[in-house]
Amino acid sequence: MNIASMTRPEQITALEANLHDLTSARSNAFAQDLIAQYKQTKRLSDKQWDWVAKLLGYATRPDPEVKDVGDMAGAIALFDKAGKTLKFPAVVISQDDLTVRISVAGSRSKAPGSLNVTSNEKYPDNTFYGRISRAGAFEINPAADGQKDILVGLLKEFASDPAGAASRHGHLTGRCCFCNLPLKQRQSTAVGYGETCAQNWGLHTEWKNALKDAQQRIVGEPTLQEQTPAQEAA
Ligand SMILES: [Zn+2]
Repeated sequence: MNIASMTRPEQITALEANLHDLTSARSNAFAQDLIAQYKQTKRLSDKQWDWVAKLLGYATRPDPEVKDVGDMAGAIALFDKAGKTLKFPAVVISQDDLTVRISVAGSRSKAPGSLNVTSNEKYPDNTFYGRISRAGAFEINPAADGQKDILVGLLKEFASDPAGAASRHGHLTGRCCFCNLPLKQRQSTAVGYGETCAQNWGLHTEWKNALKDAQQRIVGEPTLQEQTPAQEAA
């Protein structure tokens, strides 16, 4: 629907016909007020006409594309655990040039308890990429178009192995994906995320294992230890 090319009376007619698709109670009541006022007085202010167009846009926007990003149970358990210590638990992960922030939708949001996926700027300068239901359905916002495949890949990776995704992000960017601060301590740098964050997010065992692996890797470096021919062949 090309709203800009419609006359104002046509916009009112269309808004009325699509009222049932304005699911937010506030928007719906507001649209009804505007329609009623127009019918009664035949006039609205420019600002009100802007709202008619905007609400019509909301009511007629296409249903979001939905992609399955796999079992989110593990990731959601992390957020639930972190929510006990942190007020606004969020994870920042990136791939290529795309950095996304995943956080839990609050009780006043459209889908409380689902995971919001946005760009990493502060609201309202960020881009809303979509939301992941607790069952793992990723509703993609049209604003994410063009980056859909990277997004879905990133979310799948995070869903299937949150600790691994956290490590990868840290090694790639030098920042902890949980608090978004630069990694400074040697151990955190080796693992890819901080120990305190690991504790907050219920990943302390994973953190300790990753540290052990990293230390073994360093010890196993040929420059640090003489290799026997047998090891070389392995
Ligand atoms: Zn951290």
